[in-house]
Amino acid sequence: MENINYSAIENNIIQIRKRMENYPNSQLMAVIKMRSLEEISFAINECGIDYVGENHAQEFLNHLGCLDNVKTDFIGTLQSNKVKYLVGKINILESVSTMSAVKEISKHSKKLDLISKIMVEVNIGKEPQKSGVMPDELSAFLDSTCKESNIEIVGLMTVPPVTDDSKKRREYFSALRQLRDDNLSYFKGYINHPLLSMGMSDSYAEALDEGADIVRIGTGIFGPRKYTTTIV
Ligand SMILES: *Cc1c(COP(=O)(O)O)cnc(C)c1O
Repeated sequence: MENINYSAIENNIIQIRKRMENYPNSQLMAVIKMRSLEEISFAINECGIDYVGENHAQEFLNHLGCLDNVKTDFIGTLQSNKVKYLVGKINILESVSTMSAVKEISKHSKKLDLISKIMVEVNIGKEPQKSGVMPDELSAFLDSTCKESNIEIVGLMTVPPVTDDSKKRREYFSALRQLRDDNLSYFKGYINHPLLSMGMSDSYAEALDEGADIVRIGTGIFGPRKYTTTIV
């Protein structure tokens, strides 16, 4: 059993919240992939974390016991065959970028007689290895998605290219905001303010400045991840 540095976790959360004070409408999401139940429970019960992000369906199911009173979004690669484990349990499915996933979400939501909230993930840096809808294909994707039943598109999400250049990071985030503003009509119930989920440990300051509604922070809260297990 490794030692967990609880005071570091607590301190990190306090520092991040302090930096977010000037952005009262932005929400802090703790990204809990590869974290132990002890770390997650501590962040929730002792540090007031009330919003988390999950990357893997199986990991999410393993975590369920300690996620009773928190909102959980799904932010990982969304495989169509895993959708059935997520619909009805997840607050927002943020990483939607294929029509097959959209159709699965629609099908299972209909079965459970509920409306699923989704975000469309945009490949804002047009990186070939990354998932997400390409910026020039976004309108067409939103158009097809909003024709499916039992789905509500509540915003856009992105994982931008890694860069040391703060100005570049800002440009990616402002490009996502522009895409949102150019496509307002697709966000029906959220038309007054579709959400932007953008900004991670190394980039959340720029994301907040560019209008992020949700920043997703993992290592900045819990420290570096140790990839000891492989989760499919
Ligand atoms: C892991 C992950 C994060 C958090 O990344 P950190 O660099 O650890 O803050 C945010 N968003 C997505 C989609 C992720 O997979």
